[in-house]
Amino acid sequence: MPGLATIIAEIAAEMAEAPHRGMVADYIPALATVDPRKFGIAVVEADGTCHMAGDADEAFSIQSISKVFSLTLALGSIGDKVWERVGREPSGTAFNSIVQLETEAGIPRNPFINAGAIVIADMILGNHAPREAIGEILRFVRSLAGEDGIFVDGAVAAAEQETGFRNIALANYMRAFGNIRHQVELTLGVYFNQCALAMSCRQLALAGRYLMAGGINPATGHSVISPRRARRINALMMTCGHYDGSGEFAFRVGLPGKSGVGGGILAIAPGRASIAVWSPGLNARGNSQLGALALERLVHRTGWSVFEPV
Ligand code: GLU
Repeated sequence: MPGLATIIAEIAAEMAEAPHRGMVADYIPALATVDPRKFGIAVVEADGTCHMAGDADEAFSIQSISKVFSLTLALGSIGDKVWERVGREPSGTAFNSIVQLETEAGIPRNPFINAGAIVIADMILGNHAPREAIGEILRFVRSLAGEDGIFVDGAVAAAEQETGFRNIALANYMRAFGNIRHQVELTLGVYFNQCALAMSCRQLALAGRYLMAGGINPATGHSVISPRRARRINALMMTCGHYDGSGEFAFRVGLPGKSGVGGGILAIAPGRASIAVWSPGLNARGNSQLGALALERLVHRTGWSVFEPV
């Protein structure tokens, strides 16, 4: 097998030539105006080596990838009580779907669809003011990546708020069942700001290291979360990380992964690597078209699928 640096450079060159790049999310101007030709990839190996190609140092809106970090925080603070208010099944429905909430008494199917992530935001809010909860999420992600440059894009957060009618509906609907415990504006303030986190592929791959390393941040040796919970987060990323495209992603890539409508994907090869890709064009399910293709090729060339015999 050629070295990882060569493989990544080849994949970035191939993606530059790709004819079908998907459609950039256009529900807010801050995302609609991103250049669809952008492509970045960063791979952090278990020994800490970081390989990058393309626009891997450019910050983009991580959107729903933030749901991995907020779930980790909630599990760390309230433990398995999380599962009293959110399920662990793939939804088979779109990221912003409301349909299952009525039949399932306001309990979202999993923490990675919007409804589930809004419940998680409500847990993180706890007894804090929204500003403190947002600060806690930001500090957490900065400490995972070991980088202070990560920030919340205020323009994106404000636009999410202005256009988030479905998310407001989801939160109100769950509040009617008692599964949102704060005023919806407060809970959604946390959710909209976490979606507006801006990170580069390099920062994102660094932040994901604890998931490849059994819950330990390999840079510091500190435990971020227990090994059992790290395994479970990976399982949820595999089964639920790409909304109604999760089966297709597992079929093609075979790694736990979480996508966001900004065009990023965080993928974990347990014991081997934390990988972040970014290409803003999305497929019909709202997942990065070239991001998934790049990961498919990476896994094919490295043999990193979790379904590969070792
Ligand atoms: N901010 C987006 C929303 O809540 C996130 C969706 C996503 O990244 O899939 O609609």
